[in-house]
Amino acid sequence: MIAKTKYIPDGKKELKKLPILHYLDANFLYYPVTSARCPEGETCVRGGQFVKIGEVIGTRKGAFFEQPMHATVSGEVKGYEKRIDQSGKVVDCLIVKNDKKYNLHPSVVDRTDAEIDALSKEDYIEIIKEAGLVGLGGSAFPSYIKLQTKDQINVVIANGVECEPYLIADYSLVMNQPQEVIQGLIYAMKASGAARGVIAIKKKYTEIKERLEFSLKQFTQYHIEVISVGNHYPQGWELDMINRAVGIKIPQGELLSKYGVLNFNVSTLQSIYNAVKKRLPVLERLFTISGNGVHNSSFRARIGTQIPELIELAGGYKDVEIPKVLILGGPMMGTNVQRDDIVMTHTSTSLIVLNEEVRIEEPCIHCASCVYSCPVSIQPTQIMNAYKVKDKDALKMLEVNKCIECGLCSYVCPSKIHLTDYMRLGKRLVR
Ligand code: SF4
Ligand code: SF4
Repeated sequence: MIAKTKYIPDGKKELKKLPILHYLDANFLYYPVTSARCPEGETCVRGGQFVKIGEVIGTRKGAFFEQPMHATVSGEVKGYEKRIDQSGKVVDCLIVKNDKKYNLHPSVVDRTDAEIDALSKEDYIEIIKEAGLVGLGGSAFPSYIKLQTKDQINVVIANGVECEPYLIADYSLVMNQPQEVIQGLIYAMKASGAARGVIAIKKKYTEIKERLEFSLKQFTQYHIEVISVGNHYPQGWELDMINRAVGIKIPQGELLSKYGVLNFNVSTLQSIYNAVKKRLPVLERLFTISGNGVHNSSFRARIGTQIPELIELAGGYKDVEIPKVLILGGPMMGTNVQRDDIVMTHTSTSLIVLNEEVRIEEPCIHCASCVYSCPVSIQPTQIMNAYKVKDKDALKMLEVNKCIECGLCSYVCPSKIHLTDYMRLGKRLVR
């Protein structure tokens, strides 16, 4: 029987009820010098130097852009140690010892409304670049590059769908700080010249819709609407979301801007608000620890916080005699990590800890469930077979690069085959 599905249990109901614990006073903060998008980086501070909140402490370097690193506490630079970053890699981290004074760098001063009104498109882009803002939904793509397009932008979309199970960072943000998201959207509209803003949320989030529409009453001079899209997975995938929200079909591989659209995650828009209004980089994030192998908890913590401290504060691991599976991010698209000495970065939202279960892969029974469930209409089984014999031509012909690594094929497979892993490996082979 074909197990085609786009509806998966999201495990969010209980997590949304958890109180948010504020853990903003870690003793030591660890800042990765590199990231998945920036394989090189350098710091501009030395051991013993005192830094302040918002101060630039280094630069990460990608192929086509640079991202400044900022201190998220005031304190003393203590040196370097290796830790795990969001991509699951062991990376060098600069350590700052928190002096618990929380002194702001002199550059961190609120802009007045008059100063904001006087900002040009170029000013917005420069502010967002200097704050080191990247896509906080997980892409980590630099926000200023999206905004400096020469294409005419008609609509900016705030993506608040957060379709990945177990993730509640965006939900909590929109419930608790809707005005900051809306204000960030308005700044992104001004920076891109778009006349229209759309906030896309899941249809079942009626409470979010009410909250946003109530908040929007203060911003009636702007053309912004809240649009409910589907509840299915992966509705947060931007091409599907844009099609549902504004009816624009964008082919895979094309730039959204060519179609007059820009898309930002709601957390990214809040970071734009903070950069423009408060001259602040991203200082903190909501981070959830969940799964059957750990005491579940939600935290607000500073970028640079060590995740083991949060695990301990949550009550520690459960069933300590059972080995654990650690997933950074969500269960569908997240990254498996082998160690828990992880640090919080801009794109950190969740750690899932599962008691390890024996999962024996069985042979493919050719049920075609993976093919029928795939949102980009490629053929996971054929791709897996091509990868196994390292047939690059076949992988290209089967369009492995269209895979968005959503994890649905693995989820529906009755033979428990890790198809998504083969998709990732196949993409790497043809790269
Ligand atoms: S992981 Fe890739 S191949 Fe599998 S369902 Fe998602 S898009 Fe399709
Ligand atoms: S890989 Fe799994 S889901 Fe796909 S056809 Fe084979 S058994 Fe079915």
